[in-house]
Amino acid sequence: MATLSDPTGPIRIVIVGGGTAGWMAAATFARFLETGFEIDLIESEEIGTVGVGEATIPQIRLFNDALGLDEDAFLRATQGTYKLGIEFVDWLRAGHRYMHAFGAVGRDVGLLPFHQYWLRAQKLGSARDLAAYSLNNQAALAGRMQRGPARTARVLPDMPSAFHFDAGLYARHLRRYSETRGVTRIEGKVVRVDQDERGDISTLLLEDGTTLGADLFIDCTGFRGLLIEQTLKTGYDDWTHWLPADRAIAVPSERSTAFTPYTRSTAKAAGWQWRIPLQHRTGNGLVYSSAHLSDDEATATLLAGLDGEALADPRPIQFRTGKRRQMWNRNVVAIGLSGGFMEPLESTSIHMIQSAIARLMKLLPGRTIAQADRDEFNRQSDFEYERIRDFIILHYHANDRSEPFWQMCREATLPETLAAKIDLWRGNGHITREHEELFTEVGWLQVFAGQGVIPAGHHPLADAIPAADLAEFLDTIDQLNAREVAQMPSHADFIARHCAAP
Ligand code: FAD
Repeated sequence: MATLSDPTGPIRIVIVGGGTAGWMAAATFARFLETGFEIDLIESEEIGTVGVGEATIPQIRLFNDALGLDEDAFLRATQGTYKLGIEFVDWLRAGHRYMHAFGAVGRDVGLLPFHQYWLRAQKLGSARDLAAYSLNNQAALAGRMQRGPARTARVLPDMPSAFHFDAGLYARHLRRYSETRGVTRIEGKVVRVDQDERGDISTLLLEDGTTLGADLFIDCTGFRGLLIEQTLKTGYDDWTHWLPADRAIAVPSERSTAFTPYTRSTAKAAGWQWRIPLQHRTGNGLVYSSAHLSDDEATATLLAGLDGEALADPRPIQFRTGKRRQMWNRNVVAIGLSGGFMEPLESTSIHMIQSAIARLMKLLPGRTIAQADRDEFNRQSDFEYERIRDFIILHYHANDRSEPFWQMCREATLPETLAAKIDLWRGNGHITREHEELFTEVGWLQVFAGQGVIPAGHHPLADAIPAADLAEFLDTIDQLNAREVAQMPSHADFIARHCAAP
């Protein structure tokens, strides 16, 4: 059977790959390209998916909302839980912990961001840890959860949350959504890729002899990069000199009594371990540098750090942090792991799938592709990747740990963009953000402070408040947060009431 592109028929898009990336792309096309397009998705059960990717950031809500997914039904279908931030344990040094919580920290006053007052109060000895001034942080540590505006909404900000979920179940949820809206799923393995005289992909040959042509191909084949790399030889920017971890071992464990509404990341001798609580189990994994730790040592470290019985054999995964030189090359757009790999420290990969899809929807080509559209897509993708990379490097760079891996991370030359950001902060506590950057000033603030990078000075306007008033201002925020958190249900009760999986 041959399905080829017909210049008088609908525009054909073929997605290769049915992991998180493939089904997120399919669901978006199903929702927004109702007429004039024909969408096929090819996936191979025999090849399978990478099977990890359980923690998200609050932007996932925009994606689910755009599809019109009901939050409770989505959480029930994916064994999902809430995530208010990420706790970093032992990153600065053993025994130290801090949280990168979502949402605001304190309240900005006049021209100045809150942290300028906090920096001054620190010097006066009247400041508490940043955690006290973040509603999300206090709620997370107390194991509480609430939706909607704070009770004292006039004074306190909203409590943004993201989700932990089973990525396989999320893909299944999106598959149901996509298939009922006209996406055709084809089970099969692509065994040959043909190009036309210009070099564009023309047809895919499946193992059963089926031939598929399209105007646009979305490569969601994971680390393989079947179209973008194996066929188009696009090339890869390797960032392992900045982010040297190149392996992970993942294992699920039984659900723990510590049903935390946050991800935990614990630094280890040559990497770090994640802990992600879902409704039916806890997801765990160790990310590490194979130059500093053997696979056996990594497995032993992982298993020793579980807070419940392992439910399966540990599964190894290899990767190389970096990105494709072009995410959109010829008539192929790489989305997901085929486009690049960012280690999951700040749970950004699913977000990057979502933003790549949004970018593609904005620049969606018809039957002819303008080079300027590809260039713009690639420029925006590069910018996003590089700025997220910088944020992740900061966690590794600013540490006081003694192991060789951590010394190496501390001493590695930084990307210029990150070095400039650190210098600006170290001086008088300034943080700037270009508008396309993912992480906000408050994200950078919490990681700078959490990793022990404290500026020499602060903005002189922060000196305008009398010291006693400043102390009272900070205490009031802390107390309001604590009062708000005290009336919230526990995370476990919240899930049981609204979205417990059957
Ligand atoms: P895959 O899931 O690998 O899917 C590839 C698809 O392509 C499969 O369906 C496969 O069958 C198909 N395929 C491949 N070749 C062929 C062929 N020849 N013919 C037909 N079909 C083919 N992200 C987060 O946001 N949060 C996290 O907490 C997180 N943790 C992670 C931890 C680790 C250790 C790793 C490695 C990644 C993590 N990620 C995380 C990233 C996340 O897992 C991925 O971004 C996400 O799963 C998307 O994967 P994918 O769909 O690109 O690839």
